[in-house]
Amino acid sequence: MKLDGKTAIITGGARGIGHAIAERFLREGARVVIADIDQEEGNAAERDLEKLGEARFVRADVGKRLDVHNLVASTIDAFGDIDVLVNNAGIDHQASFLDLAEDDFDRVLRVNLKGAFLAGQAVARIMADRVKAGGPAGTIINMSSINSVVAHPDQVPYAVSKGGVGQLTTVMALGLAPYGIRVNAIGPGSISTDMLARAKADPVAKARILSRTPLGRIGEPEEIASIAAFLASDDASYITGQTIFADGGRLA
Ligand code: NAD
Repeated sequence: MKLDGKTAIITGGARGIGHAIAERFLREGARVVIADIDQEEGNAAERDLEKLGEARFVRADVGKRLDVHNLVASTIDAFGDIDVLVNNAGIDHQASFLDLAEDDFDRVLRVNLKGAFLAGQAVARIMADRVKAGGPAGTIINMSSINSVVAHPDQVPYAVSKGGVGQLTTVMALGLAPYGIRVNAIGPGSISTDMLARAKADPVAKARILSRTPLGRIGEPEEIASIAAFLASDDASYITGQTIFADGGRLA
């Protein structure tokens, strides 16, 4: 198994892509902590995931430093170490540029970009200390999006935040390379989760997505989880600072 004996934190792991990553990591032999702001969904996910292996849920808002520190401390308490962090928690807000409210801009940036910074820094400090003490390095995966490089007029803070996640990945990879800590990102296209539910339910929006996706279908969360499992494993030992796009071939 690719992740035997490794401990992983997956933020936004109660649902969607994060839940699929947790499932895949458990099947690959990892111990998993899912962190999510949604207590009810998190408890349900923990019950579900425990059937596959060692899984814990910790309630945390990734945009709050104290929550992130509690998440890191709870993971060390439960499993003793952290080998993999997946910064997956994310939210969207749709509005035209002219109508966009300042609060909504801040809210999306706080979760998608600042959340990845806070959790990334807190976990990287633990990983760097472990390397200094002669231990193995860990790895960090940030969830970006096709929207980091492709713009749509009604997704202003989302696209800006994901563009930021792309650069955050690059600067983290450079800063942490001396410790052997690898940092990469995944850039999904349209994936079948709650985040996409509104677009899927609207035939016009769905047709628009399919028309710009050469493979002609919406992706499944498991198709993102398999990339996360690869990047988290030693199979990706010489890959850092990259974003792997999984978007059915989308060009726009
Ligand atoms: P989702 O809405 O199904 O799940 C997101 C999870 O994050 C939820 O469980 C939610 O409770 C949690 N979350 C939200 N705010 C949080 C916070 N402040 N702290 C902790 N947890 C929080 O979404 P998804 O489609 O599974 O998206 C997961 C990631 O993938 C996001 O970063 C998203 O931007 C990215 N992504 C999704 C798609 C897609 O088409 N679904 C495409 C590209 C990128």
